[in-house]
Amino acid sequence: MSKLPLILAVDEDAEALERITSELQRYARDYRVVCGPSTEAALKQLEALREQDAAVAVVLAARGTQALKGEELLSRVHDLHPHAKRALLIPWGGWADEETADAIRTAMAVGHIDYYALKPWSTPDELFHRLVSEFLHEWRRANAPGRREITVIADPWSPRGYELRNLLARNGVPHAFHTCDSDEGVRHLSVCGQEGADVPVVVLPDGSALVDPEPEDIARHGTRMRTELVAPDGFDVVVVGAGPAGLAAAVYASSEGLRALVVESESIGGQAGSSTRIRNYLGFSRGVGGAELAQRAYQQAWVFGTTFLLTRDVTGLRPENGGHVVSISGGTEVEARAVVLAMGVSYRRLGISALETFEGAGVFYGSSPSEARQFTGASVFVVGGANSAGQAAVHLSRYAANVTLLVRGETLAASMSQYLVDEIAGRENIAVRVSTEVVDAKGDGRLERLVLRDASGDTTEPADALFILIGAQARAEWLPDEIERDARGFVTTGSDFETTLPGVFAIGDVRAGSVKRVASAVGEGSVVIQRVHHYLESTAATSARVP
Ligand SMILES: Cc1cc2nc3c(=O)[nH]c(=O)nc-3n(C[C@H](O)[C@H](O)[C@H](O)COP(=O)(O)OP(=O)(O)OC[C@H]3O[C@@H](n4cnc5c(N)ncnc54)[C@H](O)[C@@H]3O)c2cc1C
Repeated sequence: MSKLPLILAVDEDAEALERITSELQRYARDYRVVCGPSTEAALKQLEALREQDAAVAVVLAARGTQALKGEELLSRVHDLHPHAKRALLIPWGGWADEETADAIRTAMAVGHIDYYALKPWSTPDELFHRLVSEFLHEWRRANAPGRREITVIADPWSPRGYELRNLLARNGVPHAFHTCDSDEGVRHLSVCGQEGADVPVVVLPDGSALVDPEPEDIARHGTRMRTELVAPDGFDVVVVGAGPAGLAAAVYASSEGLRALVVESESIGGQAGSSTRIRNYLGFSRGVGGAELAQRAYQQAWVFGTTFLLTRDVTGLRPENGGHVVSISGGTEVEARAVVLAMGVSYRRLGISALETFEGAGVFYGSSPSEARQFTGASVFVVGGANSAGQAAVHLSRYAANVTLLVRGETLAASMSQYLVDEIAGRENIAVRVSTEVVDAKGDGRLERLVLRDASGDTTEPADALFILIGAQARAEWLPDEIERDARGFVTTGSDFETTLPGVFAIGDVRAGSVKRVASAVGEGSVVIQRVHHYLESTAATSARVP
């Protein structure tokens, strides 16, 4: 039998099936295309493929009139082949039928389908192909075996290895990961002359190897992003942070002719980069991966001419000669006429010393797409009651045998969006434990057990991983005293986003009173540039008047 990944389509309508079969032939070089009328037969085939551990890339199914409806087949695919992309096929205008609309919304809400697809109407039907191609792109990026631009070989429990993989994933760099004792890992290490290495090794596209590299080495050689300023000339505006707010400010600043520098200490995309699917960002009706959105924004800013400096922290800021001097880790100082603070927030810690010991070795703050796969078949815990914790639980449930969501409060509904509460309720392998806290962790070199406390006392539970998403604190501690902050450390601004230091603006999550959403951060990032223009014009006019 062919080893090619499968594209499967099911529709009992003979005419539609013929058109779907004909359209899907476009993919037959790289995929095994199978189309048929029976949902039961499709299910049997998918069960057999699961037994053989065969790759299934895309499944499309029409609702139909059979005992096993299309949407039910797709919900089974979700269990059998969790990585497969799934869409419900509907005829043109099918969305107007209330029952079909309900089937689509329910299946999407509980994660049983990724989207719906209109059955092809003409030949070629590029609208149909757009969805299939997007599905294949996403599937291949996340799952496909084979050659990748960059390969990481490390112990799966190595915190350094985790840090490097996380950095690559969040910067949208396609990479493969092999454990150092796997056949592939051993082969890669031997080819690059690093046999028996007990530290992480990163193999670059040209075959050279970085041994136990620093994040800066990965940024410079792996992502080919700038970590040093060639000419630290003056900039019109320096943006601190490349989350959604900073990226939007960069796009608008550069597109409007300002010389802009963005300094980012970790990875492009900020918190949004760790979100596996942002479903409420305008224009992405089936959601968009946070890293994907961030990469698009980064490229947009880069094309307009923004200079980016990665793996560097802004550490200080002082007014000088009517402008500002921005200090950057590594000893660089840059002059800027205006500064936009977009540092966002960082995850609050639980403050349990045993958990700090296991960070990267089973304990993770936030959740990145790169870790979930490692926990296939495992028992994982997520702490937190807000949307980010809910999203992490749902994402992890695709891989883990069971996910336990630990919530300090008495209900989820108080702190989480209803669509996520529903999705969690629809996942059989997610358990929610309210009024429960983590109080200790145990293990030998990696997390193995958690001690949990609820009203009935302490219990010790086996745990392969713990993801902590319990809210956040502003990353504004390094700012000079002239910049006012509220009692919780968030930067206060006027309605024009200007802080108490003229020419310094604050946007996004770091700003006191901000909404803490991708769209609002992006909105503030675009609006603030207009304020920066006003400020620059007013200071230029003032200096022109000085004799
Ligand atoms: C897991 C998760 C899921 C989410 N899902 C959604 C969702 O579905 N929909 C939604 O609307 N919102 C979602 N959010 C919230 C959303 O991601 C944030 O509101 C948004 O990212 C805020 O953007 P920002 O640019 O203000 O800050 P951030 O995204 O926090 O970015 C700030 C950036 O600044 C950098 N930085 C900080 N200090 C410095 C410094 N001194 N020097 C240089 N760089 C610095 C950081 O490294 C970071 O990259 C989610 C958040 C998380 C964590």
